[in-house]
Amino acid sequence: MVDEGLKARILVVEDESAIQELLAYNLKKEGFTVDCTDDGEEALWMVEENVPDLVLLDWMLPSLSGVEVCRRMREKDVTRSVPIIMLTARGEESDKVKGLDSGADDYIAKPFSPRELIARIHAVLRRTRPVLEEKKLEYAGIEIDLDAHRVLCLGKQVHLGPKEFYLLCRLMERPGMVYSREQLLDSVWGQDAYVDVRTVDVHIRRIRKVLEEAAPGLERVIRTVRAAGYTIDKPGEDEEEE
Ligand code: CA
Repeated sequence: MVDEGLKARILVVEDESAIQELLAYNLKKEGFTVDCTDDGEEALWMVEENVPDLVLLDWMLPSLSGVEVCRRMREKDVTRSVPIIMLTARGEESDKVKGLDSGADDYIAKPFSPRELIARIHAVLRRTRPVLEEKKLEYAGIEIDLDAHRVLCLGKQVHLGPKEFYLLCRLMERPGMVYSREQLLDSVWGQDAYVDVRTVDVHIRRIRKVLEEAAPGLERVIRTVRAAGYTIDKPGEDEEEE
């Protein structure tokens, strides 16, 4: 994927430097944005600071084990749904079960072929971040062509700014999923941006206006969920009037 805004960010947690380098090399070659650490505690700090799209987590780490890192990530709202692929030593069947119990999405045994690992990563991302893998998103009469950056509302092309485009993509990826303003801000503007969370509201209003102009009533698919954030969904009872 060449689109910088739609590149998956992967965190590699691996204490063996040769394996860490091998992973980073192959993931970057595949077009992912890669962060690395050799320490479980640091990994926990990093995932909160800059929520990745996926974590490759070594089972055996010196201080905090991979399983413990996984467990702690699952306890926190911000990292609960981040997919985790565990790296285990070959044949550790009980470990495999424990790994999945702890909340890992998949595991891969060492030594692994980079090609297989990449395939597994794509399989997980297709499920969790379709926008990173698919060519098109469709919901409620809205169609997004991700390669062409084109948005159609009931067949009519509309124009959105880049932030609005990515914001709409984020919502369209998982209709019905409620995203907090902080989550949307992080994924569209990035963690390092000094932007007020209310900026999200401004951009949501712009998207609604564009949708409304293209197809009156369509703007209602973007719902404000009280005290939670935004979702794209069929209008429901907890809809907030604005
Ligand atoms: Ca290790």
